[in-house]
Parts: sequence; structure tokens; C-alpha cells
Amino acid sequence: MVDLRRRNFMRAKKVSTPPAVRLPWTADETLFTRGCTQCGKCESACEENIIIKGDGGFPEIDFSLGECTFCQKCVGVCEEPLFTTFDVAPWQLNIEIKSDCLATKQVHCQICQDSCETEAIVFKYLQASVPQPNIILADCSGCGACVSVCPESAIKLSTSLLGVQNE
Ligand code: SF4
Ligand code: SF4
Ligand code: SF4
Repeated sequence: MVDLRRRNFMRAKKVSTPPAVRLPWTADETLFTRGCTQCGKCESACEENIIIKGDGGFPEIDFSLGECTFCQKCVGVCEEPLFTTFDVAPWQLNIEIKSDCLATKQVHCQICQDSCETEAIVFKYLQASVPQPNIILADCSGCGACVSVCPESAIKLSTSLLGVQNE
């Protein structure tokens, strides 16, 4: 007999779990999880210590631990053919500022702007009494530096790699 409670739980889990952010220049999510041997060399190679063992033991990026410097070391130590070439963007990342942002609650905060080397975060008054952050996507490198410095964890970076289902 089909256990409906279990089936509904599994469906809910699938919908609510965002796809992992893989290593920069990962070509395809399906190829990655098929080809990665979970050797852990990329984790050891990352001097920023932002690569963790994620679901199923596969490596993923945790921007709450720091930023990616695009040093390419994780890709360099990997012995599997999981990556694109370095002449394309390392990630197709989506970035958004959630409603937890202090500025949206009329509290002065511009910490994220100070962390952004490419000056992709700009603050404007709009119709609020304190300046509100806005991310210029064309200028965002996807480094994640703004994520860990935000006191409210209000900045979310998510991946849209080939083969990733954003259900
Ligand atoms: S490119 Fe460098 S900083 Fe970025 S995840 Fe790989 S090893 Fe870490
Ligand atoms: S650091 Fe976080 S809370 Fe502060 S303005 Fe930026 S997004 Fe908002
Ligand atoms: S992820 Fe984008 S907005 Fe955030 S610090 Fe890096 S370049 Fe700036």
C-alpha cells in the first residue's frame, strides 16, 4: 500500500530544498554527482574553507563561511572531468536580498556594500527613509562576499547550473 504521508513528506522535502551551489565552473549538476568520487581534495585545496561536504557527501559551496576568490585551486586538484573551461563564467548564480534586510526595516545598514569589490550593491533612498540596497546583476561576480557579512543573513545566492532542477 502507498504510504501517502511519506509520499507527501518526500514531495515537500523536494520542493523546499534548494539546489546546492557546486564548485565554480561545474559544467552540469547531473554529471557532477555522477562523476565526483567524493575524494575531498577540493575541500582541502580551498584556502577560503568555503567547500563543505553537503547532501550525500558531495562537495558544495557554503557562502555563509566566506567568499570565493576564483583562485581555481578546487578545479585544479580535481581529477575528474566535471568542469567547463575558465573562459566562461564560473557560475550562473541568482542573488537576492530578502525581506530580513535591516534597511527594509528602516534600520541604517550598508555592510554588504562595503564588502563588494565590484561595487554591485548600490543604495538608493527610493521611497524609504533609509537607503535601500539594490544589486546590479551585471556587475555581480557571484563571489558571495556579501553573504557572510550580512548580520541578518538576508542575502541569498542560489545556483542555476545546467541540469539543476529549481523545483
Ligand atoms: S575557486 Fe578557490 S576560493 Fe573558490 S571555491 Fe575553489 S578553491 Fe575555494
Ligand atoms: S548587510 Fe544585510 S541587512 Fe545590511 S543592508 Fe545589506 S542586506 Fe541589508
Ligand atoms: S556576490 Fe555580487 S553583490 Fe555580493 S559581494 Fe560578490 S559581487 Fe558583490
